[in-house]
Amino acid sequence: MKVWRNILIVLAGIIICVFFVRLILPIQLDDVSPGIFCEEELLDLVDVYYVIPKFGNVSIDKNWCDEILKRNKELRLHGVYHSFEEFGKVRDEEYLNEGIEIFEACFGFEPERFKPPQIAWTKENDWMKNEMRIDLGWNEVFHKVYHCGDTGVIPNWVVRVF
Ligand SMILES: [Zn+2]
Repeated sequence: MKVWRNILIVLAGIIICVFFVRLILPIQLDDVSPGIFCEEELLDLVDVYYVIPKFGNVSIDKNWCDEILKRNKELRLHGVYHSFEEFGKVRDEEYLNEGIEIFEACFGFEPERFKPPQIAWTKENDWMKNEMRIDLGWNEVFHKVYHCGDTGVIPNWVVRVF
């Protein structure tokens, strides 16, 4: 019985720590794209935008990018097309470069970090880790991550509370 009590205390401690870490670390917003509606309040609230460069096969355009730049947030890359589990499949350099080039042409700098849609990842894409930092599962544990369009596995209202 005592063992279980100790395990519970440790677990509760870990959950409380994670709760506070999430309060402190930069807040993230996934699925930023001209093709996905995003509440003004969310765009203001967060610190980091994960931008989809070619959602619905439409590249982000200069006007939109200038508006995004005015908001003064950290910008990262979020897939290329954001198809379902896009990077759960093997992707080559040409595929990734299309996304990087669209991003760079629009914002004027290369993305330094990348989050795959649905955090789907296959080891065969590990070569990308030489190009930029890849945000995978632990990133989602330690950061509050909101979604434009509220399509995340964890709804925005839950993220708000925890
Ligand atoms: Zn996404």
